[in-house]
Amino acid sequence: MAQSDVDVVVVGAGFAGMYLLHELRKTGFSYRVLEAGDDVGGTWYWNRYPGARCDIATTDYQYSWDPELHDQWQWSEKHAAQPEILRYAQFVAKKHDLYSGIEFNTRVDGAEWNEVAKRWSIHTSTGETIICQHYVMATGCLSVPKEPDIAGTEKFTGNVYVTGRWPHEGVDFTGKRVAVIGTGSSGIQSIPHIADQAKELVIFQRTPNFSMPAFNGPAPQYRVERLKADRATYEHEARYSGTGVPLEDSTVSALSVTQEEAFAMLEEAWQKGELLSLGNTFMDSAINRKANDVVAEFMRMKVRSVVKDPEVAELLSPYKHGYGTKRPCMDTGYFETFNKPHVRLVDLNTQPIRSITETGIDFGKESMEFDAIVYATGFDAMTGAIVNVDIAGKDGVTLKNKWENGPLTYLGLTSVGFPNLYMITGPGSPSVLSNMMVSIEQHVDWIRDTLVHMREQGFETIEPTPLAEEGWRVHCTDCADITIFQEANSWYMGANVPGKPRVMFPYIGGVGRYRMACEEVVAKGYLGFELGSGDKKQCNDGLVREVQPDVDMVLDFISTLNLPAMETMSPTEARAFSEASSAMRPSGPEVGEITDGVLQGADGNLEYRLYRPATPGPHPIAVYFHGGGWVFGSHTSDDPLCRDLCAQSNTLIVSVNYRHAPEAPFPAAAEDGFAAVKWVHANAAALGGIPEKIAVAGWSAGGNVAAVTAQMARDTGGPQLSGQLLLCPVTDGSQQHASHRENGERFILTKSLMEWFWNHYATPDQRKNPQASPLLAASLAGLPPTMLVTCQFDPLRDEGNAYARALMQAGVQVEHVEARGHIHTSITMVDMLPSGAPHRREMARALRGFFN
Ligand code: NAP
Repeated sequence: MAQSDVDVVVVGAGFAGMYLLHELRKTGFSYRVLEAGDDVGGTWYWNRYPGARCDIATTDYQYSWDPELHDQWQWSEKHAAQPEILRYAQFVAKKHDLYSGIEFNTRVDGAEWNEVAKRWSIHTSTGETIICQHYVMATGCLSVPKEPDIAGTEKFTGNVYVTGRWPHEGVDFTGKRVAVIGTGSSGIQSIPHIADQAKELVIFQRTPNFSMPAFNGPAPQYRVERLKADRATYEHEARYSGTGVPLEDSTVSALSVTQEEAFAMLEEAWQKGELLSLGNTFMDSAINRKANDVVAEFMRMKVRSVVKDPEVAELLSPYKHGYGTKRPCMDTGYFETFNKPHVRLVDLNTQPIRSITETGIDFGKESMEFDAIVYATGFDAMTGAIVNVDIAGKDGVTLKNKWENGPLTYLGLTSVGFPNLYMITGPGSPSVLSNMMVSIEQHVDWIRDTLVHMREQGFETIEPTPLAEEGWRVHCTDCADITIFQEANSWYMGANVPGKPRVMFPYIGGVGRYRMACEEVVAKGYLGFELGSGDKKQCNDGLVREVQPDVDMVLDFISTLNLPAMETMSPTEARAFSEASSAMRPSGPEVGEITDGVLQGADGNLEYRLYRPATPGPHPIAVYFHGGGWVFGSHTSDDPLCRDLCAQSNTLIVSVNYRHAPEAPFPAAAEDGFAAVKWVHANAAALGGIPEKIAVAGWSAGGNVAAVTAQMARDTGGPQLSGQLLLCPVTDGSQQHASHRENGERFILTKSLMEWFWNHYATPDQRKNPQASPLLAASLAGLPPTMLVTCQFDPLRDEGNAYARALMQAGVQVEHVEARGHIHTSITMVDMLPSGAPHRREMARALRGFFN
């Protein structure tokens, strides 16, 4: 083994570095902890602007690793101010003798990995080079103030202050003419205090922000009581919660209540004075624009109720970004400040800054003189502190170069090409979207455990694999894609720093889900990491999260319900159960008209439901066959999907209630399907459709009926079909495909449920008939253009894939979508699972394409 000066170098002595130092000592690693400031506290050391406070309540923003602290330290307020939090950090540092382990006034200027020695060389501002095995960046997410990007900043001869680098001795603005640029959290907290002193205060606002009063005071009693009663449970809940603060997840859609009801619920959350309570009032405000608008309008109403000048109130009201998509703020008297006669708001959208001058600011058509300018313009967040240090990994590639198009990490903790480098609350982890204390402790614990594991197992290096890192990037993107966060020009998206790549920097899948992913990685033998020492290697490569995040949440939710397996029920019970479940889902989009009727099936009348587009007809027609394993479901059971297809494809959908097994087994469904298509063709004009433009469509067993119907139409002289749209179709009764085993459990449609369906529908012999298993048809040539969608975690995936391949080989025009991360049911869950929406758009586009 190569020599090191120490096992671990830690950069930063904020709450992350302090805790890590404690743990390194406890586990017997040698270390150097380097800190640029001259005291502990990190963010709370640097951000000393007036009014600086933590937005997370003191009941939650404190260490949990030293239980004694809970008795030894008493917080004076619900939202502690910066000096008190700094004192807390100092108290902990003294109590645990951390000061003796930290080298202050020491920066890291550069670091490089030596692939031969398997060691990092860390270069410090004191001219030293430290050789270490592990290198931990505990540098914080919001520690590098953004470079000024306003013309003329260097010219100003008055006093200049930056909120993130506030003078330790404080600033007295009494009698001064002051300009504040920026209305994020730092601006919103400091402005009321500056206004109290200044003779004249002008606030330059580019984007108004959502802010609610902190209602500061004693810690919230209901939290204190819960903590006292059972701290362990409280902390456990925090660790597995969405944000690192125990909150009950909402199950109410903002769109399912009247505005009056919604505002009453929001008022209750508002009165709590807790940052996360408003965003948590409704289940859909982060994923649905309209739902978010309800919260945003409530917030704007609050601004109007405080700010006396309606024009100023309007300027202070955010319209361009959704609530929560930029970090919302907590304030004390912020909006009230604008009622003061010596305070003025300048809207930079109509009066942009032309230049900072020697004596003040030229903006719009005006010039104003100031004694002081306060920049509350934010940070080069998440990555600034990491890439500002020249960190060169394998082959000399720097992290800055690697991250040119956005940070690439595995779990936000590590990065390919940078062995033994760890980031605490790095990009790709919940970090700034969480209670930092909870996230910091989790990362420190993970790093400590990993170092101990490596030592015990004799591994020298750990590095994520490219597959795992790319998988994590995809998962992070999937999580962001189902939210509306990407619409906002926020620092979460890197949008505040010119030239920064526009990606979602933090992980938005939630603290608890993230923690479970980290735990799973370890439990699976460091899944996605390569551990090595000389010739000894261990690599269990793979992806930790592959299911779409919203699908995963639904699966988790369902697993908590302990529902009986459908295959243990009688068909009658299963039908009732299926109907009851369907009753709870959103109804889907509006269409022009919905009518019910009867059509002639193969053996008597069948009910149908017709969905007519809102546009003038006649329209092309898709005859749709519902899912339900030939046993349950009806012409109305796939209502949301049918509405969606109708509205998006401008196609008339006729959903057919074919006969069900076991009462009407094979070939009843197939024969009814074909009879229905013939009837629709014959009656197309009367239905308002175009007889020459008829397609079939279906999901699951309905996809089977559609596929079989298309073959029957081909083989028995019509009608001529324009296309077939098959979503997760059953195509092969043998059930021998690998996906039946791989996806046979957990994903709603299970292997045993599929067997139950087949057992009710067709005997083993009958399953060999192409009218039960369309994949077994002698030829697939001459079938209409096909859109076939298969889902990665569907037991039916491989038989669907096989059908797509067979159709292509037979010369059929096929568009095959393999829906990554989806399960058998997820694409049908309209307005519930945003990740299914792009696939439904594709399906609708294909349907339109059939008819052109
Ligand atoms: P910020 O949220 O990024 O706000 C910066 C403000 O400056 C924004 O209003 C921004 O406008 C404006 N700005 C930036 N460049 C500008 C320019 N060239 N011209 C005009 N205006 C410009 O930064 P922050 O307020 O320092 O807060 C950063 C984060 O730190 C917070 O979101 C929060 O996570 C954390 N923080 C927390 C607390 C707390 O817990 N109490 C307190 C302070 C900070 P645009 O919006 O148009 O970009």
